[in-house]
Amino acid sequence: METTRHLIVGAGVSGLATAAALGEEDYLVIEADTEIGGYCKTVIRDGFVWDYSGHFFHFKHPEIEQWLRARMPGQDIRTVAKKSFIRYGDRTVDFPFQKNIHQLPPEEFVDCLHDLYFARTPGAGPKAPEGNFKEMLYARFGRSIAEKFLIPYNEKLYACDLAALDRDAMGRFFPHADLSDIVRNMKVADNATYNATFTYPAGGAIEYVKALASAVRPEALSLGEALVSVDLRRRVARTTKREVRFERLVSSAPFPKLAAMCGLAHDAAAFTWNKVLVFNLGFDRKGQRDVHWVYFPDRATSFYRIGFYDNIFDTDRLSLYVELGYPRDAVVDVPAARARVLADLQRLGVTTDHQLVAEHSVVMDPAYVHITTRSNAEVTRLNRVLHANGVYAIGRYGGWTYCSIEDNIVEARALAADFTAA
Ligand SMILES: Cc1cc2nc3c(=O)[nH]c(=O)nc-3n(C[C@H](O)[C@H](O)[C@H](O)COP(=O)(O)OP(=O)(O)OC[C@H]3O[C@@H](n4cnc5c(N)ncnc54)[C@H](O)[C@@H]3O)c2cc1C
Repeated sequence: METTRHLIVGAGVSGLATAAALGEEDYLVIEADTEIGGYCKTVIRDGFVWDYSGHFFHFKHPEIEQWLRARMPGQDIRTVAKKSFIRYGDRTVDFPFQKNIHQLPPEEFVDCLHDLYFARTPGAGPKAPEGNFKEMLYARFGRSIAEKFLIPYNEKLYACDLAALDRDAMGRFFPHADLSDIVRNMKVADNATYNATFTYPAGGAIEYVKALASAVRPEALSLGEALVSVDLRRRVARTTKREVRFERLVSSAPFPKLAAMCGLAHDAAAFTWNKVLVFNLGFDRKGQRDVHWVYFPDRATSFYRIGFYDNIFDTDRLSLYVELGYPRDAVVDVPAARARVLADLQRLGVTTDHQLVAEHSVVMDPAYVHITTRSNAEVTRLNRVLHANGVYAIGRYGGWTYCSIEDNIVEARALAADFTAA
């Protein structure tokens, strides 16, 4: 039987970052797909460069960005000040909504300010509970902001009852703002959020993946090989090609699937998620300028967000990604959704007499995991068992969390450092 010190499952950002950080250590990376990248793959069609969904990068650790860029010589990588908006009825409001209520019609502005004030001011009334995500939205922003944007938008995205989600389901990705921030923003705009600028390589998100892969030994990467089951007691993994004895196994496969492959009894109902159908659409000529992405809270519009690739490198043909959220067990009728999307884009004036010349679609399943008190408890409980047997679940789906690719790299590096220090 073959042996490896570190068996790494998945050649997305998390798996490749782990292997890269292990340096000269003994490792084997297995990847079920025939290509590396996981959700950070890029599709190039008829001159259009598209990711699986808008993948724009917000690096908070300059050394990580420098490490990646050092492995991407000669590439055009732009850092762009983002321009993001909300389509609210017939008007466009700056994102985030809660900081720009003064851009609403006067009556709606007064409603939002009134409800926000009474929700947030100590002594202005009883403190509302924050037991779940939906309650948190009401308690922190008041009824009007919650019901005009935060609830309908997030219901379209997560495709579930927001009361089922943990209060911190979006972690640092949720743009919090206090009353003073909101009032201050009415005079001097400061819409800085966690992602005020983003970077993007001309060749798409896959270029960051390739930079990671350049630090991975090619002979230690096996594509088209899936993990099937794990014998925790013997530390033996069965794959679609062989049996491998390991000292440690690092998996970026979705957490409930890993638990099942390890034969661990678990509460399967604790794990729910949404699927996102992404359409990448290329048209024959330019559309709107000065916009990178737009949020659509309106329930009558099929998508929750669209993004404009062509405004990053200022190319001359409209190049869109369009995202639609579905419950995990929904049957996704792609042709019907496509027809609705094209009609909605036309109705909203995103396209006029544009001709569609190239397209691609993909269903990301899972896309956003539903972080709940129950899922958090189950992940913590099962991780104790897995860690005791040398198995580590990492990444967005491995860790069953909400995170960015930079977070994936930070986590992978920390784990590899623990291993090499041990
Ligand atoms: C709609 C959407 C938009 C996003 N936008 C951004 C963004 O703008 N910026 C950003 O930083 N991040 C963004 N992300 C997050 C980003 O995609 C993830 O953080 C990142 O791709 C996760 O990488 P990963 O390696 O952990 O997981 P994955 O990319 O899922 O990789 C896991 C790999 O494991 C493989 N695998 C699974 N099971 C097995 C098995 N049994 N055996 C072998 N291999 C297996 C899979 O084939 C896959 O290649 C977005 C995510 C979504 C859903």
